[in-house]
Amino acid sequence: MAAVFRLEPGDRYNQTLAANIHPSDWINPLPTRRYNMVVIGGGTAGLVTAAGAAGLGASVALVEKTLMGGDCLNFGCVPSKALVRAARAAAEMRDADVYGIETVDVKVDFGKVMERMRRLRAQLSAKDSASRFQYELGVDVFIGEARFIGADAVEVGGQTLRFRKACIATGARAAAPPINGPRPSRISDQRNRLLVDGTSAPRRRAWCRSSRMRTVADASALWRRGDTNRTRATYPAARRRRSRAVGGARNRARRGAAADQGNG
Ligand SMILES: Cc1cc2nc3c(=O)[nH]c(=O)nc-3n(C[C@H](O)[C@H](O)[C@H](O)COP(=O)(O)OP(=O)(O)OC[C@H]3O[C@@H](n4cnc5c(N)ncnc54)[C@H](O)[C@@H]3O)c2cc1C
Repeated sequence: MAAVFRLEPGDRYNQTLAANIHPSDWINPLPTRRYNMVVIGGGTAGLVTAAGAAGLGASVALVEKTLMGGDCLNFGCVPSKALVRAARAAAEMRDADVYGIETVDVKVDFGKVMERMRRLRAQLSAKDSASRFQYELGVDVFIGEARFIGADAVEVGGQTLRFRKACIATGARAAAPPINGPRPSRISDQRNRLLVDGTSAPRRRAWCRSSRMRTVADASALWRRGDTNRTRATYPAARRRRSRAVGGARNRARRGAAADQGNG
């Protein structure tokens, strides 16, 4: 059985979440003789890889040591968008006079904002659940920590999973940037995650985040809105040139491959 994973606060939403993505009564299946693929890590990357491979008819095992859905469902994309939406609602109410609407005194109940976040996260977790992957998508789901014990085998919870291919989708950890000057007195050991177990607003918190993915995503959103000036600022010229060069080379390679196939 999977180890009990405590999600704080232990309300009905977090209980639903845990039942979906780390069921404490989960019994790992008996491994088949040799999997076509073993996927280590049940975050976005691992779930998509496992579902895609199983959909193509491969025998697949997925191993997740803590929470299926990974950072995106539990600490990243989903919680942050719930908070962003609440912040936007508060800002729009506060600035309603811009639209000719009389403003009201906006009071944010942070506990309720977080409760809504937990409700949405619990609802969405059904899609990433162990039982959906096991019984609907045909993936053998193992809850536990995977460890390579050979070139074609991993061990999880005392069981050996043999594979033809393995996919390591164990995510990444943020590093503290080498910033000169005063250091924050405490840096969270979950530096790449929103700390989403709170029910009352933190008194002070500073966030510092920069990543290529974010830059590209922001730039493409601005680009779609036709905001080319801000696109240029967000997505600097050198990177745009590199992106065009890579894209151009990729397209030329694709055209070449298509032509070869046509000739063959
Ligand atoms: C605040 C925040 C907001 C974000 N917003 C967005 C957004 O809006 N859009 C977007 O596209 N991205 C967003 N991201 C990024 C997104 O969350 C990550 O890109 C994504 O979660 C990466 O997925 P992953 O599968 O590579 O890794 P992870 O989600 O980290 O999953 C890796 C999994 O592997 C498991 N694991 C590790 N080692 C082992 C082992 N030995 N055995 C078994 N399991 C193991 C871990 O427990 C974990 O569940 C955001 C991130 C943050 C922090």
